[in-house]
This record gives sequence, C-alpha cells and structure tokens, in this order.
Amino acid sequence: MERHEYDVVVIGAGGAGLRAAIEARQQGKRTAIVCKSLFGKAHTVMAEGGAAAAMGNVNSSDNWMVHFRDTMRGGKFLNNWRMAELHAKEAPDRVWELEAWGALFDRTKDGKISQRNFGGHEYPRLAHVGDRTGLEMIRTLQQRVVALQQEDEKLHGDPEAYIKVFAECTITRLLKDGDAISGAFGYWRETGEFIVFDAPAVVLATGGIGKSFVVTSNSWEYTGDGHALALLAGAKLINMEFIQFHPTGMVWPPSVRGILVTESVRGDGGVLRNSEGRRFMFDYIPDVFKDKYATTEEEADRWYDDQANNRRPPELLPRDEVARAINAEVKAGRGSPQGGVFLDVSTRLPAAEITRRLPSMHHQFKELADVDITKEPMQVGPTCHYVMGGVEVNADTGAASVPGLFAAGEVSGGMHGSNRLGGNSLSDLLVFGRRAGAGAAAYVDGLARRPAVSGLDEAKAEALAPLERTGGENPYEVHHELQRTMNDLVGIIRKSEEISEALQVIEKLKERAKNCASSGSRIYNPGWHLALDLRNMLLVSECVAKAALLREESRGGHTRDDYPGMSAEWRRRLLVCSASPDGTSVTVEEKIQPSMRGDLISLFERSELEKYLTEEELAEYDTAVK
Ligand code: FAD
Repeated sequence: MERHEYDVVVIGAGGAGLRAAIEARQQGKRTAIVCKSLFGKAHTVMAEGGAAAAMGNVNSSDNWMVHFRDTMRGGKFLNNWRMAELHAKEAPDRVWELEAWGALFDRTKDGKISQRNFGGHEYPRLAHVGDRTGLEMIRTLQQRVVALQQEDEKLHGDPEAYIKVFAECTITRLLKDGDAISGAFGYWRETGEFIVFDAPAVVLATGGIGKSFVVTSNSWEYTGDGHALALLAGAKLINMEFIQFHPTGMVWPPSVRGILVTESVRGDGGVLRNSEGRRFMFDYIPDVFKDKYATTEEEADRWYDDQANNRRPPELLPRDEVARAINAEVKAGRGSPQGGVFLDVSTRLPAAEITRRLPSMHHQFKELADVDITKEPMQVGPTCHYVMGGVEVNADTGAASVPGLFAAGEVSGGMHGSNRLGGNSLSDLLVFGRRAGAGAAAYVDGLARRPAVSGLDEAKAEALAPLERTGGENPYEVHHELQRTMNDLVGIIRKSEEISEALQVIEKLKERAKNCASSGSRIYNPGWHLALDLRNMLLVSECVAKAALLREESRGGHTRDDYPGMSAEWRRRLLVCSASPDGTSVTVEEKIQPSMRGDLISLFERSELEKYLTEEELAEYDTAVK
C-alpha cells in the first residue's frame, strides 16, 4: 500500500483546511493536505456574500463587541461563547492577512476593503468580492500554499518537502494507537488504490452534511465524512439538531432546486413578496427582535441610506426566521406558482447596478431558469444549507476529545450555536483554521514518541466490501430514500412522530446499506464511492434525528411544531452525540453549557438576556455587572 509519513494531515482543502495547513507548515511541521475533490473545488469556492469581520470600514461604530453580540443573538445564545469571542476579535486580522497574501476585495470610495450588509449583522460587515468571495478566498489561500512551496524549493530543493496536496483522495478511516490518532486511511478516487498516512495529528476540515437532504445548496462532497470519521474515532459531536435552512434557494426548474440565491440580494435591497404582492416579512418579526427591525416599508427603505436613524428591514432577520416565514406563506397558499415566494431586486436597483453587484446571480438565473433578474423577480424557497453541529472542540486549539484529533470549519460545532449568521462561516474558517493548525503543531511538539499505525486490514476490508458483494442493494436507492426521509421528516418544521418515523427508516436503511453492492472495478467508480459515503450520511442523520427528537423546544435551526417556544432550561443544555466503535449505534447525552464569562455577559442589557436565560443565570449576570 502507498504510505506517507507526516506530522500533520489536514483532511479537506476548503478555507478551513487550507488555513490550518498553512499554519502547521509555518510552524515547521511536515503537512499533507488531502481532499476528495480537485484542489480548488472545495465547497468554500461557492461562497458568495462575503466574510464577516468587524473592521468598521463602512460604519466606524462596528467593533468586535457588536459582532460578538450579533453572533450570540443569531445563535440564540446557545453558541460556545469563547469561540464567538475569539471569532469576533480575530476575524479582522484574518481578513487583512488574506489581503496581504493577495486577495482583491471590493473597495469603498476611500480605498478600504468594502463591507456589505447581511442578515443579523448590525452594521455592514461582510468583506466581499462581488458575489464570488469564496473563489477569491480559495485562490488566495492556494496561492499562499504555492508561495510556501516555492520557499521550500529554495531551502530544501523540493517544493513538496513541507507541504503537499493529495487531491481526489478520500479518507475513509482515522487510524489510532490506543486512544491517540496515528494516521488516516483512504483511497485514490481515480484508481481505487489505497493510501495510508502515518501522522500523529489529523485536522478534520471536511465541511458539512447537506447531501443527506434532497433539497440542498451543498455540493456532492458534503456527505458528513469528517463528522462520521470523528465519531468512529471516539470523538463527540454537539448541536447536531441544528440545521440551517437557507431561506432563498432556487425552486425552479426542478433540476436546480436548492441552488443558493445569496443573501446579498436582500442585503443590497431585494425584497420578499407573496403571491398577493405583500412584503410579508413585516408580519414575522419575533418578539426578541421587535426593537431592532423596521415595522413599516418606508422605514425599512430609508435604512439603506441612513442606518443611524432607521431600523433594519425584516428581510434581513436571521436566516431561521426568514426560512420559517417563507415556509408559512407557502403553506398558507400565498406562494409563487412553483412553490416558493418572490424575491425581487428588479424594482429596487437599476439594471446596471444589479449586474455589477450580483453578477453570479444574474448569470445563474439567466442560464438555469431563463429569468432576467434585472427585469423580473426570482422564485425562491428554503434549502438545506449549513450544519451548525459538529465535532466538539477546544475553542482555543481546535482539539477534539481524542488526542491528536483537531477540527475546524463547518465540521466543527459550537461557534454558531443554534443558527449561523451569514458571512460568519468564511471568517470562522480563517480564525479557527489557523488555530487548529497551530493546535496540531503544538500537540506534535509535545509528543514523546510517534504513535504507530494500526487497523489497516479492517479499514481495507471495510472499503472493499461493496465491491465484493454480488446482487446487493443499489446505493443510489438507499441514498435517495435517506434524502427524502431527512427532508420530509427531519426538515425545517419537525414533530415527534415524524422524527421517530425517520429514525425507524434510518434503522432499516442502515441494514440495507450494509448490503449495498457496487458493480464494476475500483477505477473511478462513483457507485462504490457512494456506497462508502452512505455509512457517513446514515451515522450523521441518526445524530441529527436523535438530537432533534430530544430537544423539546424551538430554537434557531431546530423548529418543533409540537414545542413551538424557546425554553431557557433547554438553552443551557447541549446534546452530545457519540457512536459505538463499529458505528452501529449513536447515543445522545445532555451536557450543561458553561456560563458566559462576566466581562462578556456584561456586554448585553439585562432586558435582552431575560428573553433567553434562566433566573439562576440572570442572578449570575447581576453579580457580574455589579
Ligand atoms: P469545504 O470548503 O467544504 O471543504 C471541505 C473539504 O473537505 C473539501 O476539500 C472536500 O473535498 C474535503 N473532504 C470532504 N470529505 C473528505 C474525505 N472523506 N476525504 C478527503 N477530503 C474530504 N459562508 C459565508 O460565510 N459567507 C458566504 O457568503 C457563504 N456563501 C455560501 C454560498 C453557498 C452556495 C454555500 C453552499 C455556502 C456558503 N457559505 C457561506 C457557507 C460556507 O461556504 C461553508 O460553510 C464553508 O465554505 C465550509 O468550508 P470548510 O473549509 O469547512 O469546508
């Protein structure tokens, strides 16, 4: 078997993985970047709107404390507050660092990095490049990797001496020595040949889980691999019940259903209307946000030019609120012809401005739906977009509970609480990617000996099993049934009976998946790849459904029809998933969240906290502000 030795193996080449790898290499560690897609094709490339960072370029009132408050509010106070603090404090430096590495952000008139409005952010905060920010981020980070390789060529005569990319290579198992990580096992997608990495530290940066749902903005890579790899290695996942349904995905034609329509459309003035032409978001401002959002169209429209004296338009409420509102309008029979609502920017901005600010959206609708968004409204509806849940990590180092395992980016959990604000993912990737790379490097420095790889025979047998079965189940059918089940029974609005039904279906699908067979050889065989991915999607879906069943309240990306209110008691409780080593069962346990540090909780008014905290926690607040 092909074998390589590294200090740090980073699984994933999106924003989090690249930033982690750059950091590990800068700390002198021999680093491998492994990704199952082509290098440069990670999901991060698709990010449109921008990276949130309180640089205060457009509104000088912005600072890390306002960003911290917005993030906690967006996550309905379930966030890991230390992560939210680090993120808000460090995001500006990470964006400036990207600029120093060559990123060409859009500019303000006075030449600073421009920042745009997004849902839940009090001030214009998203550093952006038109609506193609993710592309610029990946381009810049890759360029930085190449620059480091050029340095290594000069120093060591080999550009890949300290950092090497293994693209189109899928990891299927983490390897261990006793309790600690010792490497990773995978296969080359093209040849099907196996590959082993001996490494004491692994950083998971594999992104999300959206491909377990039928309507999703996510790309083919999002099969929850990192989540499952972590579980199988003995790590824990938190917050898995919280799935973000982005309010605006394309609904028509069916072949493109779910593809994202960026929030920038609303940030730049676009409005949502129902079939009666009503700007319905004014009817859906929840009590907790009543004082922050405009109650009339006139005030909402004035806000775009004068933010100091007007409140924000309700179209810019956090995503969970907007998604639920659209869902309710469609359910009430006030939807658009193809089952969404109308998102109109054509009557709000001149055509030239639309094509300048939203070039990808203009192109996307013209090419895919034959709709000219400068002339007519788009039809949009909720789409599974982001998973708030992920690997439970140490906020400062990205370390998971398994020694040698680290995680950053969408695969990690905690930072965004029950609902992520738009733009907070790209900055999360940079802040926590860097921290996980540094955490992994420090861990390697502290080791007395390199752990030894074991478990290769089992990993190989598991990977070959679908090819060795004959006449078994078709993996595409199992996948499709899982996607429908998750979409229909554990989707945007949930109830006990439906989640229980989903869990029963998942149990049956687990049995069927064990019997999946893939015909053909090991050479570029997508059926085989899917059969292997199914293990991950089923494990992750079980976590989502089990946690969703237990959480008897509605909060952020978890809405229970049978428990419509938010409960202060539930806010304190995290649901923590772990799996048996063979992955056959998932258990979920409750854990009490640590109380917020006094200096951070004092950033909020008591009247606001009363909407979220228990009496006991409010007493702690009173002590902190004294
Ligand atoms: P990714 O960028 O997804 O990278 C995952 C990597 O892991 C890939 O390289 C993949 O090949 C690799 N991988 C996965 N499994 C394996 C395996 N088993 N073996 C080897 N490699 C593996 N967020 C914002 O903040 N602002 C935005 O404007 C924004 N716009 C978005 C627009 C769209 C259309 C979408 C879908 C999302 C958007 N998001 C945005 C969210 C954001 O893009 C993602 O959350 C973020 O890019 C995830 O980055 P990541 O580094 O965690 O993972």
